[in-house]
Amino acid sequence: MTALRVAIVGSGPSGFFAAGNLLEQDDVEVQVDVFDRLPTPFGLVRYGVAPDHPAIKSVTKIFDRTAQHENFRYFGNVEVATHVTAAELAQWYDAVIYAIGASGGRRLEVDGAWLPGNHPSSDFVGWYNGHPDRRELDVDLGVERAVVIGNGNVALDAARILVTDTDKLAGTDMADHALRALHGSAVREVVVLGRRGAEQAAFTPAEVAELGKLPGVDVIVDPADVPEEDKERDKARPPVERNNIKQLRRLAAAEPTGADRRIVLRFLRSVVGINGEGKGGPVRSVSIARNELVEGEDGTVEAQPTGHVDEHDAGLVIHAVGYHGTPIPGIPFDTERGVFRNADSRIVGYDGEPLPGHYVVGWIKRGPSGVIPTNRDCARDTVSVLLADAAEGRIPRSAFDGAQVEKLIAERVENLVEYDGWMAIDAHETALAEEHDRPRVKLTSVDEMVDAALGGSGETPA
Ligand code: NAP
Repeated sequence: MTALRVAIVGSGPSGFFAAGNLLEQDDVEVQVDVFDRLPTPFGLVRYGVAPDHPAIKSVTKIFDRTAQHENFRYFGNVEVATHVTAAELAQWYDAVIYAIGASGGRRLEVDGAWLPGNHPSSDFVGWYNGHPDRRELDVDLGVERAVVIGNGNVALDAARILVTDTDKLAGTDMADHALRALHGSAVREVVVLGRRGAEQAAFTPAEVAELGKLPGVDVIVDPADVPEEDKERDKARPPVERNNIKQLRRLAAAEPTGADRRIVLRFLRSVVGINGEGKGGPVRSVSIARNELVEGEDGTVEAQPTGHVDEHDAGLVIHAVGYHGTPIPGIPFDTERGVFRNADSRIVGYDGEPLPGHYVVGWIKRGPSGVIPTNRDCARDTVSVLLADAAEGRIPRSAFDGAQVEKLIAERVENLVEYDGWMAIDAHETALAEEHDRPRVKLTSVDEMVDAALGGSGETPA
């Protein structure tokens, strides 16, 4: 039997883990083509992981090994829906795995949320990480106080980046435009708002502990916001909650040093309005409601406003309240959850029946949750369902072969970037970084990337 031909749309961690799983198993020969709409692979590892967390990015070494497999091909700078449709992919391949992540940022639905000075975390994070779509984002850091809405790790990333000494950030792969802006930043206080209590925080212990170790930064936690020590009660808490509380107690007990910059963690607070200067002007203050906790119908703990609202000066608001996926024409979408409709890793139609040969993995399957290794298990599940479907004849085989598909893509895509093109970009970025003692200097425009992929200087053509 000829090799099974699988397209993977998206080269972030879930896409690459799925490729690795397909290529490492011995039951059936598989040829894998990975598509990405950008010339650069690795999705959230390159454009989401904070630049001061380089260890997390070392997972790309595994992906590089996968890319060296003789049955692996990378088609970068190819957008599904623009250069090739989902229906065509279904014809060209035996199976398609969608691994497009959830790159759309959610924004709080309150008055003033669209005034200048508001940014969904996806934009802000993409901006400091040099995502080509976000390099022009106008982030005004000439303000003293920023507010970060949300209590997940992305909220902590945003808060930490806003107050970290730029001497430290200068040794990372943060985008140069962000480094320059942060160097001149006037931000002195970042207030992080959790709508529920410290016990319900979505962040994790290592990330909250890290805040307390930032040089030149005081972290302010009101002791009244953290439950008092109670050995029995604490032992019964789930480990993440127990350790979050432990870290928060430490922070609450620490005496402020009078440092120049502060992060203030506030709980049971919701932004209920964002107020601009004049009509439509930039953000100048936020209205913050105090909440209390109530038990929801399904037993979950929910925030409910007490009716007490305060106004606080702020000039920058980061909405770190989650992400949502982006639909692709022809693929059934669950608008509420922001994912492709799926069951047991198979994409399903609006009637709930599987679309033969269509699979999902990662955030576009589960929603935006979990850390990078979570996608390894998720990919294993998807690949085992796909291989079982193939073994049991549930996948219609394509009439196309790999060479025909490559020709079609090359005809349609003017600046196709394959893996050796990415390696040229990588070499270019790391060479630029050498004299500055940084891991890489990121190219942030597609034109620069294409130029470097073709062996050029990486400069934008005139
Ligand atoms: P997240 O962990 O799901 O947190 C989202 C936060 O937004 C929650 O605190 C949530 O509060 C809050 N929220 C949602 N809707 C809200 C609303 N209308 N008003 C106020 N608050 C609202 O998501 P994330 O921070 O975007 O992170 C995504 C995933 O990436 C997570 O699994 C995270 O751990 C992971 N990540 C990991 C790292 C790391 O390992 N260092 C770094 C970044 C991201 P409720 O709980 O009340 O809903």
